[in-house]
Amino acid sequence: MTPREPTAADPDQIRAELSGWTRQHWDPGMALRDWRELLLRAGWAAPSWPRRWHGRGLPAWADELVGSELIRLGAVGVPVGSGTWLAAPTILAHGPDELRDRLLAPTLTGEQTWCQLFSEPGAGSDLGGLSTSAVLDGDSWVVNGQKVWNTSAHHADMAMLLARTDASVPKHQGITYFALPMHQPGVQVRQLRQMNFHASFNEVFLTDARVPRDNVIGAVGAGWTAALTTLAYERRFSALRRPDYSPGPGRALDEARAEADDHFATYSWYPQRAGRPDLVVAHAKAAGVSDNPVIRQAIARLITMHRASAWTADRASAARAAGARPGAEGSIGKLAASTIARESAKVHSMIAAAGALLTGPDSPLHGIIAEILMSVPGQSIAGGTDEIQRNILAEKVLGLPADIRVDRDVPFSELRNRG
Ligand SMILES: Cc1cc2nc3c(=O)[nH]c(=O)nc-3n(C[C@H](O)[C@H](O)[C@H](O)COP(=O)(O)OP(=O)(O)OC[C@H]3O[C@@H](n4cnc5c(N)ncnc54)[C@H](O)[C@@H]3O)c2cc1C
Repeated sequence: MTPREPTAADPDQIRAELSGWTRQHWDPGMALRDWRELLLRAGWAAPSWPRRWHGRGLPAWADELVGSELIRLGAVGVPVGSGTWLAAPTILAHGPDELRDRLLAPTLTGEQTWCQLFSEPGAGSDLGGLSTSAVLDGDSWVVNGQKVWNTSAHHADMAMLLARTDASVPKHQGITYFALPMHQPGVQVRQLRQMNFHASFNEVFLTDARVPRDNVIGAVGAGWTAALTTLAYERRFSALRRPDYSPGPGRALDEARAEADDHFATYSWYPQRAGRPDLVVAHAKAAGVSDNPVIRQAIARLITMHRASAWTADRASAARAAGARPGAEGSIGKLAASTIARESAKVHSMIAAAGALLTGPDSPLHGIIAEILMSVPGQSIAGGTDEIQRNILAEKVLGLPADIRVDRDVPFSELRNRG
């Protein structure tokens, strides 16, 4: 693991230095890539990272502070997406240096976008049971298998790929984590249509796909440890917001807005997936039921849960600011988000009654309520299901006896019923 290089830092001092630097270098007319190259060189791209990899060795809280300060100054930061919030921190944490040197910069400039090829038809919660294989052949690994539920795989340049490189050892020990180039004949991506009509997922068929020999994140056979890092970041960042870029003119701003449009098109239903508790009061007023005592009780209960969850999230970010690695609060936050989403869908249904089932412009909130009802189940599944979060909390936090796992110490090749 790469040690961080924390230095004493003062938020006001950072803001002042960033503001001076931005005034000197930011030009909205420049190309977005050129601007991000400047951010990288100055260490403002990932301020909490070591200086060698585009950072300044500042504490973890500096990343968020610098990101929002750049926007406030009318400029642009690093791109939002699974490249910057999952792939890059995993590569930074597990290396090797050659990959850090080669892959972190194009990820932070947005030149390379990423998707996550973890889940398979026979391996979701039991990710360790995955059966996609990778075999070394000269200068590259040859990959065969099928992945599924892969968000944004239809327009990603690179993939975080988990594949089995050794079936003679227990299942978690024979997995390797690869950086897979997506644009090649061996990678076939098919979009899946969801019940809420969106199509953000894909199934990905890997047929003799090639990964350069050195594109191993961490070490061969040590992919599970690196995968846990990615999953911990995924729970932590389950609700990414679109950056509020300045509406002003300029090539860099145009390119940043187009990049965000492109990225967030895939995620346009994610606010609905979270249940839209922010809309319940307005919805009740508009429907003329805000004086109904049963509905008022339900709204009060929902808003109480929402506020309590926001405080838990604040505690988690305070812990991160103090340099703590992602921990149990990721699972707690994810479970709370699922509970709130379901409760909110229930409250919206109480308000809209049978109208909740309607879609189209004449339906309650222009179809948003129906989209909420069809999107909320995804909240309990993405990034690890509710049941899996409960298992993690029971075992890792409460110290309860572990689930019985008879397949843990058996070589993968000897397991029955594997997918
Ligand atoms: C919005 C969204 C985005 C996603 N994006 C991606 C992506 O980009 N890349 C990617 O690789 N995957 C992605 N996924 C897939 C996701 O990670 C899997 O769907 C998830 O891990 C669950 O796996 P599964 O669907 O195979 O369900 P299963 O693992 O088959 O689970 C079925 C049911 O059994 C329960 N269950 C399973 N094991 C246990 C146990 N040990 N104890 C108790 N209950 C258990 C589960 O909780 C669930 O209710 C995404 C999913 C969603 C919904």
